[in-house]
Amino acid sequence: MAAMSYPHLLAPLDLGFTTLKNRVLMGSMHTGLEDGRKHFDRMAAYFAERARGEVGLIVTGGFAPNIEGWAKPFAGTLATSGAARRHRVITDAVHAEGGKIALQILHTGRYGYSPLCVAPSRIQSPITPFTPRELSSRGIERQIRAFVRCARLAREAGYDGVEVMGSEGYFINQFLVTHTNQRTDEWGGSYENRMRLPLEILARVREAVGPDFIIIYRLSMLDLIPDGSSWDEVLELARRVARGGATLINTGIGWHEARIPTIATSVPRAGFAWVTARLRAQLRAEGICTPLITSNRINTPEVAEGVLADGSADMVSMARPFLADAEFVKKAREGRADEINTCIACNQACLDHTFKQQISTCLVNPRAAYEQTLVVRPVQGAKKRIAVVGAGPAGLAAATTLAERGHAVTLFEAAEDIGGQFNMARLIPGKEEFSETLRYFRRRLQLAGVELRLGTRAGPDTLAGFDEVLLATGVSARNPRITGQAEGEARGQVLSYIDVLRHQRTVGARVAIVGAGGIGFDVAEYLLEAGHSLTLDAAAWRRHWGVGDPERLRAGLARPMPDAPTREITLLQRKAGKPGAGLGKTTGWIHRAALKMKRVEMLAGVNYERITEDGLWVSYGEKRADAQLIPADTIVLCAGQEPLRELEAPLRAAGLRVHLIGGALEAGELDAKRAIRQGTELACTL
Ligand code: FAD
Ligand code: NAP
Ligand code: SF4
Repeated sequence: MAAMSYPHLLAPLDLGFTTLKNRVLMGSMHTGLEDGRKHFDRMAAYFAERARGEVGLIVTGGFAPNIEGWAKPFAGTLATSGAARRHRVITDAVHAEGGKIALQILHTGRYGYSPLCVAPSRIQSPITPFTPRELSSRGIERQIRAFVRCARLAREAGYDGVEVMGSEGYFINQFLVTHTNQRTDEWGGSYENRMRLPLEILARVREAVGPDFIIIYRLSMLDLIPDGSSWDEVLELARRVARGGATLINTGIGWHEARIPTIATSVPRAGFAWVTARLRAQLRAEGICTPLITSNRINTPEVAEGVLADGSADMVSMARPFLADAEFVKKAREGRADEINTCIACNQACLDHTFKQQISTCLVNPRAAYEQTLVVRPVQGAKKRIAVVGAGPAGLAAATTLAERGHAVTLFEAAEDIGGQFNMARLIPGKEEFSETLRYFRRRLQLAGVELRLGTRAGPDTLAGFDEVLLATGVSARNPRITGQAEGEARGQVLSYIDVLRHQRTVGARVAIVGAGGIGFDVAEYLLEAGHSLTLDAAAWRRHWGVGDPERLRAGLARPMPDAPTREITLLQRKAGKPGAGLGKTTGWIHRAALKMKRVEMLAGVNYERITEDGLWVSYGEKRADAQLIPADTIVLCAGQEPLRELEAPLRAAGLRVHLIGGALEAGELDAKRAIRQGTELACTL
C-alpha cells in the first residue's frame, strides 16, 4: 500500500549489469569531510546512514583527479592506490547497509581556489582570485589520464561507479564554451573540437573500468551564462555522451558564476525539470534511451514522483534533502512522508559553510555530518519531568529530542500555534518552505509524545515542580527609539516587522525600512511582492530572472523582466558598507539583486534624525544639521532583536534548574541554525 504512493520513485532501475533499488540519487555535495585524511570514518558513518535510509545510489562529494584539479589547496584527491585504500571504509560501510555509491570526479579548472589551477584558456573567473594556467596539448593529455586513473582507483576502492562532473562551469564545462575556451588547436574552435575533452575522457574511462561499472556524466543542460552552450550543442553532446559510454546522464543547471539563482529556496520546486524533460524527449525521439536524471529544488517525494510520472526524467537527484533527512526514501516507502524533515533550501548550514571553509551540516538537522558525535541516546537512569518554554525552533528541537530520549516533556507556547518566528518567516515570498519545518515538528511532537500546551504563557507558578526548565522564549524586537517614533506609532505610520507580518497592519505606497539585516530584506520582499510569490509561479519567476527558451536563446539567457514594483521602498542601515553584507554567503547576492530589480533604494551610513508625518529624516556622518527627508507613508522598524528571558531570574530564585537556548540565550546573530542546534545538543545531555 505504502509503496503505491510513489510507484515511479520507488521502482527499481535496471542498468543492465546492475539494478538500482529505486529512482533516487543522492546528488554530490561537498561537505568538507573529503578534504584531508582524517574524516574517512566520519564520512563512512554519514554515507552509511543515508544508505540505511534506502537511497538508490549515493554520489560522494567531489574528489580531484590531480592537484591541478583541486577546489582548494589539499582538497580531497584520488590519485594513488594508498588514497584508494582509505576509501574502503566508505564503500564497505555503504555496501553493508545494502547501498550503492559512486565517487564524483571533480576537476575545478579555473574555479580552483588554488594557484595551481589550469584551464583551456588563461581567463580568470569572476568568482575566484586565481588566473588559471593555459594548458598545453600535453597538459590536456595529463588531465585526461588523471580522470582515467581516478576512475580506475575508484573501482579499486570498491565504488559502484563514478560521476564525471561536466557541468556547473567546472573544467570540462570550460572546454565546451567559447566563453572560457579560446583555443585554436584541436581542443578549441569548432564545437567538435570543444567537445573533444569530455568525449575523450568518457571513452577512456569506460575502457579502463570495463562495461559493468556505473558512469554518470553530469551534463550542463542550461549554462545561464553569456556565450554558453546552445541547445543544439547540448543535444549533440548528450547524444555523443550517451553513445560514448555513460550509464546515466545527470542534469547540471547554471554555472557557479551565473547571476540567476538555481537552488535557493526562492527557486520554484523542480523549477528546472523542464530542461531535462526536453532533452529526454528529443533523445528518445532519436531512439537514445540512456536514463536521464533531473535535479534542482526537488525536496519532497510528491515532487520527485511528479517529475518521474510526467516523463521529465528516469531518476531524480536530491542532494541537500539527504542532509536534512537521511531516511527520506525509507519514510516515503513506509507511507511516513509526513515525518520527513524537509530541506528548506536555505543553504545556511551546507553551502554557506562550504564557502566559509567549515564542515557542512544542516539547519534543520544538526546531526548531518555529526552522526558519530551528536547521538540521541535513550536516557540512562531516572526519567525527568522537563518543561520547555517556547515552541520556536529552539524549543521544538529540544522538546522532541528530550521526549524521544524518554523524558516526560511538557512544551508551553504562548501563541495558538507552534513555530515562533518561523510563522513570520514562512510568510515571506520565496520562503514558503519554512512551513515544512513546522509540519515536520508538529508530527514529531505527536510521535514523541510531548505534552503540548498551546495558548499558555508559562510563568513561575506553571513551572514549579519540574526537574528541569528550558527557556526557549526567543526574542523581542529592538526599539531604535528614534525622535518622533512614538507619535508616528500613534498615527499608525510607524510599525514593527511584527505588526506588518504577524498582525498584517496596513502599509502605504512609500516605505522606509529601518534596518537592513535579514529581516529588513525579507520585509522589503514581502511588501514588494504584495501577496504574489514568484516561487509559486514558475513562469513569472523565469520571466523575472531572465531564464528563456534555450532553443531560441543561447544558454537559456533572456533579458530579466521584473514586474513594476508595487511600492517605493528605501532600506536603511547606520553602518557604512554594503547593505545585506551579513546575509548568507551563497544567497545574499540573490536578495540584493531581487531588491535592485524592484528599484529599492539602499542607503548605508545614515543617522536617524527624526520621524515626522512626511517621513523619515536622515543625515550622514558628522553633518547632522543637513538632514534629508525620505518621504514615507509607512516606516517599518527592523532594527534587530533582544533576548526575552524575564522568567530566568524568578525561576532561579525559586531554586529551579534553568537552561537558556536560542534567542533567549543570545539574540545577536541568532538564526534558526543556532537555535535548533542548541536545542538538540542540550537535549542530548540532560
Ligand atoms: P522564537 O522563534 O522567537 O520562539 C520563541 C517562542 O517562545 C515564541 O513562539 C513565543 O511565543 C514563545 N514564548 C515566549 N515567552 C513565552 C512564555 N512565557 N510562555 C510560553 N511561550 C513563550 N532564521 C534563519 O535561520 N533563516 C532565515 O531565513 C530566517 N528568516 C527569518 C525571517 C523572519 C521574517 C523572521 C522574523 C525571522 C527569521 N529567522 C530566520 C530567524 C529565526 O526565525 C529565529 O532565529 C528563530 O526563530 C529563533 O528561535 P527561538 O526558538 O530561539 O525563538
Ligand atoms: P540583524 O541581521 O542583526 O539586523 C539588524 C539591523 O538593524 C541591522 O541592519 C542594524 O544595522 C540595525 N540596527 C541595529 N540596532 C539598531 C538601532 N538601535 N537602531 C537602528 N537600527 C539598528 O537582525 P534581524 O534583521 O532582526 O534578523 C534577526 C536574525 O534573523 C538575524 O541574525 C538573521 O540571522 C536571521 N535572519 C536570517 C535571514 C536569512 O536569510 N538567512 C533572514 C531573516 C532573518 P545598523 O546597526 O548598521 O543600523
Ligand atoms: Fe537544506 Fe538548509 Fe539543511 Fe542545507 S542547511 S540541507 S539548504 S535545510
